[in-house]
Amino acid sequence: MKTGLFFGSFNPVHTGHMIIANFMATQTDLAQMWMVVSPQNPLKPKATLAKDHDRLHLVQLAIGDNPLLRASNIEFTLPKPSYTIDTLAFLKEKYPEKNFVLVMGGDNLATLRKWKNYEILLRDYEIYLYKRPNCELGEFAGHPNVRHFDAPLLDISATYIRQCIKEGKSVQYLVPDAVFEYLEGSNFYKNLLK
Ligand code: ATP
Repeated sequence: MKTGLFFGSFNPVHTGHMIIANFMATQTDLAQMWMVVSPQNPLKPKATLAKDHDRLHLVQLAIGDNPLLRASNIEFTLPKPSYTIDTLAFLKEKYPEKNFVLVMGGDNLATLRKWKNYEILLRDYEIYLYKRPNCELGEFAGHPNVRHFDAPLLDISATYIRQCIKEGKSVQYLVPDAVFEYLEGSNFYKNLLK
């Protein structure tokens, strides 16, 4: 059974992320998509990054009862900073029956050479790639383990969402309803700098 892994800080999770997760879970051979929330890097504290468990909670709210999607906190307990190759090795050992596939946007593939053990990653794992606007895919675009998909795209980012919240502008529809309601009732991001 193929399980897609979608890594991100999800600060906060937004509709652009959910469109990709749902597309991969329903329009490819992936049986499930796990949204893996990246923990804070203790060496690089970021004023605008909400706490690990808060970002995880928002992803859980976004997913609701969708059985094809799952929020993962697997990296919270792994050594930090977390490298994808180490997380994959850990997951492979913990879930030997699963076949993990990396889901990423073209912008990530373009910088893959900078990732720890990228050769092993490309050799041992499939990458399901979706196009991002105005981005070069780079040298690995034609690699046999890289599969290309045309997913619908929404041109928003978590940075934009945080900016809207900070300025008191509505983020309704830019984030899933449950996330919107939760953010409305909290001081999330309002107090963060930037
Ligand atoms: P930030 O603006 O804080 O950098 P982000 O919106 O890019 O955040 P991440 O948590 O970094 O969100 O995203 C996780 C993954 O989702 C990244 O690989 C990123 O490239 C991708 N992604 C982000 N926004 C979109 C979008 N609108 N459509 C498709 N993929 C996206």
